[in-house]
Amino acid sequence: MPARPVPKAAPSRGRFLNTGNGPSLQPIDIGHDSYVALIEPDIAFWSLVRKNALADTLANHSFRAAVAKKRRAFAKEMQALRFGLKPSAVYFNSTERCNLNCRYCYIPEKMRKHGRHMSRERMFEALERLKRHFKTTIPKGRLPQVVFHGAEPMLNREALFAAIERYGNAFRFGVQTNATLLDDSAIAFLTERGVGIGISLDAPLPAVAGRTRRSWNGAGVFDAVEAAMRRLKGYAGFNVICTITNENIRHLTDLVDFFHARHVPACMLNIVRCTLPGARAIKPDDDAAANAYLAALDRTRALFRRTGRKLVVANFANVLVSILAPTARRLMCDISPCGGGRCFFALAPDGGLYPCSEFIGLPEFRGGNVFQDDIADVLKTPAFTKVTGRKVEDIDPCDRCAIRHFCGAPCPAEAREMNGGMLRTGAFCEFYEEQVRYAFRLIADGVADDYLWDDWDKGAVTTFEWAA
Ligand code: SF4
Ligand code: SF4
Repeated sequence: MPARPVPKAAPSRGRFLNTGNGPSLQPIDIGHDSYVALIEPDIAFWSLVRKNALADTLANHSFRAAVAKKRRAFAKEMQALRFGLKPSAVYFNSTERCNLNCRYCYIPEKMRKHGRHMSRERMFEALERLKRHFKTTIPKGRLPQVVFHGAEPMLNREALFAAIERYGNAFRFGVQTNATLLDDSAIAFLTERGVGIGISLDAPLPAVAGRTRRSWNGAGVFDAVEAAMRRLKGYAGFNVICTITNENIRHLTDLVDFFHARHVPACMLNIVRCTLPGARAIKPDDDAAANAYLAALDRTRALFRRTGRKLVVANFANVLVSILAPTARRLMCDISPCGGGRCFFALAPDGGLYPCSEFIGLPEFRGGNVFQDDIADVLKTPAFTKVTGRKVEDIDPCDRCAIRHFCGAPCPAEAREMNGGMLRTGAFCEFYEEQVRYAFRLIADGVADDYLWDDWDKGAVTTFEWAA
């Protein structure tokens, strides 16, 4: 899938910025007292420029020449990142059933209530087929990742643990669970085998947390989740996901305090995915969500400064890395095409293969079946290419947006279900704008490292440096 090529056909030497074959650099207000960002959107190149030096920088020929020199290499990197990857992870849905009825769940209610578990034998067979497939796509020495995912994988515990035991050398395993079934023996089993554990909690108060995440009879599950957090204290492979909705935005900063006090090493503060109507009913406004989210990010830094211990907000850290080192980021939702079908795919309990779990329940995005079809062929079906072929350049107004490779106009499933087509924006735009502006402010202030994992840049090399 070709990205927009770096122009070379025009009879222009590219002597100036923003005309002819010169680099296109758009000045962007990042809300900083002293700096603006200059961004070349196609290649995710950026520079921070003092406001009082903007005119001189735009007319500076050595700056223009330095950018022009690197442009082709950056374009090549972006092309490889966006169109050259093969999936290396699977979201493995080992059951359709869930013991909770969260308001923003993307899995149809009927499935969660009456659905099936995948049997242990079928799970082994699916993992065998996945193993065979990844042997042909992943370099030797690297293990593909399998994350047992929603509905609630721990409802199928016996088969799940048998699979982890049997295939522990073939995959890096993770479990995304609502934590209600994580008893001592489950935690001992998972942590002894180094399985990543993601749990979910939306607020630090039972009454607020229970507004969105609750059982079928409407009862909240705060106590069970807090108990699991206590048991997991000190385990490095543990994180907590919070979904931002209009039910909890006033509590995000307190939630960060709550996580930090319980030694949670990493969390995600994900804005609600509005694919299904239940989620749209609790969608917050962009402005309110952005203010609450950025205040929560501020708090993580204040806590780090005070205690020396970080609580990394992984989804934001990924956006920061996408700016600081575009090719080092993990491709999920913040670039288009997104990670669905390109970095990972989803497997349903009946063996159905989808570009992302977000599409389970939408039959036209079922590319095939792991028990019947060749996975490499499934990845090429229209069910997948419709998603992997969705480019931000084809979406209005994202095609003109300078931060399009740091936002990506997620998500195709949400855009289709909420706004009538995949070539539309999703539920949020200003929220993502504010997130990127904030990230640039941190970089301008030299404090970005406070929000990132230690050693995040291990192995990274500086490919552009210019100062005036
Ligand atoms: S959704 Fe908004 S911020 Fe994101 S790329 Fe599109 S226009 Fe830009
Ligand atoms: S943007 Fe949507 S479809 Fe793509 S990876 Fe994220 S949730 Fe899945």
